[in-house]
Amino acid sequence: MKIAIDGPAGAGKSTLARWLAEKLNYIYIDTGAMYRALTWEALRKEIDIHNAAILAELARTTDIHFTIDSRSQRVICNGIDVTEQIRSPEVNSAVSQVAAHAEVRQLMVSKQQQMAQAVAVVMDGRDIGECVLPDANYKFYITASIEERTRRRAAELKSSGYEVNEQNISQEIQNRDYNDTHRTTGALKVLEDSIIVDTSNLTIEEALNTLLEIIGR
Ligand code: C5P
Repeated sequence: MKIAIDGPAGAGKSTLARWLAEKLNYIYIDTGAMYRALTWEALRKEIDIHNAAILAELARTTDIHFTIDSRSQRVICNGIDVTEQIRSPEVNSAVSQVAAHAEVRQLMVSKQQQMAQAVAVVMDGRDIGECVLPDANYKFYITASIEERTRRRAAELKSSGYEVNEQNISQEIQNRDYNDTHRTTGALKVLEDSIIVDTSNLTIEEALNTLLEIIGR
């Protein structure tokens, strides 16, 4: 059983995917965290994020994996726990440029397919239904209004101790969505078999129940 969850930034995909996986006892794979970890590594090494060849080499040589501690899933990049750092504003504004390189995507997609092999998974990202799990049993497209997505992202950043400016956050989300929907490979789009769920007016519990109800049917 494979469940793909795609959608724009800040629509609540990760929380929903994590909760759904917990509920169904499936493995949860946050593919955005993998692109974020690679971006964190590139920024740390002061690599030019527009250089496709260097980034592809970095993607080939960087070990990114997940571990589970008592409370949560952790993201480990070359042995360093980067779970918190990969949510920083610097990574937010650079990640969609790193993720635009076709060779980087190719490497990530094949890693993600290996991770999903032979296990029941809920995977969230942008190209899961189209590229990573084209045979997924369910392909959800989770969306929400830009106002609501800005509000949620602001709350998330605030709770991590960052100073927030909602106008900047809204702009950053829209830039990222533009990059994610306009790249040549693995662009975010609604597929023919996508099940669209708009979470603008739903609590996370309501959104989860909507998904469970569709799966139960
Ligand atoms: O899901 P999240 O917002 O953490 O993803 C961060 C970024 O990683 C996205 O804006 C996108 O540029 C990239 N990404 C991607 N393909 C995926 C998952 C994430 O290009 N499957």
